[in-house]
Amino acid sequence: MFYKDSQHIYRVPELDAFPWLVHGFGTRWSDIPALFGNLGTLKQIHSAGCVAAEGRAGELGRGDALLENRPGAVVAVKTADCVPVLLVDERRRAVAAVHAGWRGTAAGITRRAVEAMHERFGTAPGDLHAAIGPAIGVCCYQVGPEVAVQFGGEGRMHLDLAAGNGRQLEDAGLAAERIYQSGLCTMCHAEEWHSFRRDREKAARQHSFVGIR
Ligand SMILES: [Zn+2]
Repeated sequence: MFYKDSQHIYRVPELDAFPWLVHGFGTRWSDIPALFGNLGTLKQIHSAGCVAAEGRAGELGRGDALLENRPGAVVAVKTADCVPVLLVDERRRAVAAVHAGWRGTAAGITRRAVEAMHERFGTAPGDLHAAIGPAIGVCCYQVGPEVAVQFGGEGRMHLDLAAGNGRQLEDAGLAAERIYQSGLCTMCHAEEWHSFRRDREKAARQHSFVGIR
């Protein structure tokens, strides 16, 4: 069960268990870049592109999953309704932060990030934990036919992006009991999160981060 710490950051107890790891899902009240001077990020483009951070900080190119295995490095994605996913390889001490909106989810970004960790770090999917953070919930996310068709639906429908990314992780070989879903909707909870669909151009972004001490 996700919980909120004293810095208004949501965390997962199962990931707190790793003393070498830092992780969290920011809210509108938390300033993640101020906490980590060395934060690596991407210019996010709703793709299935994966980038290796290699200890660098700042904006590290275009893509939607940022991979890291160097001690002292932290990577992050920015979202306001899209799904943030944090991946943790407990054996090889490697991590990834993933940004998955409907385009990225349809392109398989989360499955692709697991494959990229395998290619780059030798990650076995069975060694991974995955935390799927606050995003627009199925309660609020009605899409039109042009999006529905990407997910095998038709007409107007409610889409559950968090569940879709969870399925990608299971397809990639993760154990279901190691996939942690927040169940928290960014659009329902204006007091806690930015939401693009709710606030449109006024919406800022929250950071979700994962790194190695
Ligand atoms: Zn909602």
